[in-house]
Amino acid sequence: MSQPTYERLVAQLDRLGLWRAKEILPESLSAAEQGEAGYAGFLDRLLEEEIGAREERRIKSSLRLAGLPYLKTLDSFDFAFQPSLDRGEVKDLAALTFLAKKENVLLLGPPGVGKTHLAVALAVCACQNGYSIYFSTLDSMIRELAAADRAGKLDRKLRTYTTKSQLLVLDEVGYLPLSRAEANYLFQVISNRYERSSLILTSNKSVGEWPELFGDHAIATAILDRLLHHSHVLSIKGHSYRLRERAQAAALATPIAAHAAS
Ligand code: ADP
Ligand code: MG
Repeated sequence: MSQPTYERLVAQLDRLGLWRAKEILPESLSAAEQGEAGYAGFLDRLLEEEIGAREERRIKSSLRLAGLPYLKTLDSFDFAFQPSLDRGEVKDLAALTFLAKKENVLLLGPPGVGKTHLAVALAVCACQNGYSIYFSTLDSMIRELAAADRAGKLDRKLRTYTTKSQLLVLDEVGYLPLSRAEANYLFQVISNRYERSSLILTSNKSVGEWPELFGDHAIATAILDRLLHHSHVLSIKGHSYRLRERAQAAALATPIAAHAAS
């Protein structure tokens, strides 16, 4: 290939924003020239690499914008530590049919048992499979919606928690009780998503305790009715992983401290 043709090719890939294709052009050309790949093979490799790189960029930027508290996956979840949790059920959820069916997932249990970890892991999995995701604590969502309401922009802000994501994670439901007006914001989000898009909720309270938290029994019933209609409820009954880690750290530190003191 002549130098001017090559330079034009590079400039055109650049103009089209095909950066990965531009990057691998020299090696792909030389492989094609050595007869390793035909015309179709050359083009196929270039496009495949470009698409792969774009997908990677999309995933990275979606994960950055999703508001996740940390990045965790199911691979790093120690199921042996949490025997009350059905590993098969979690793996089934990771196949993401619940998203296609617009079903909800409730992760219930005391602090430290891995509710947020599992919710994040499922959200990461969804993002990697092309779904749009958004993560918020319930408290932060309510504060955002209340502020938007005061500024006369409630409808717009509601979209952040409804139509903008195919999966919304609402973490820490039940840590703080809600006033009737606050519960009403939650109701609007849940009824808007009902049978349209999925929610993952985590809570340290059992569902039976929710009506007390929501200030108003009618709203609580309306919320639970929609939420539980198509849902997978996972109750984790084990011990806190945080405390286990702390206990291990303390056990490790003791001999060192004893040694240092001697
Ligand atoms: P919570 O149930 O309070 O939401 P988290 O999911 O935040 O608890 O878990 C607390 C910490 O312990 C996190 O760093 C999480 O990654 C870790 N963790 C919890 N359970 C497990 C587990 N079974 N295997 C590995 N890490 C875990
Ligand atoms: Mg949590």
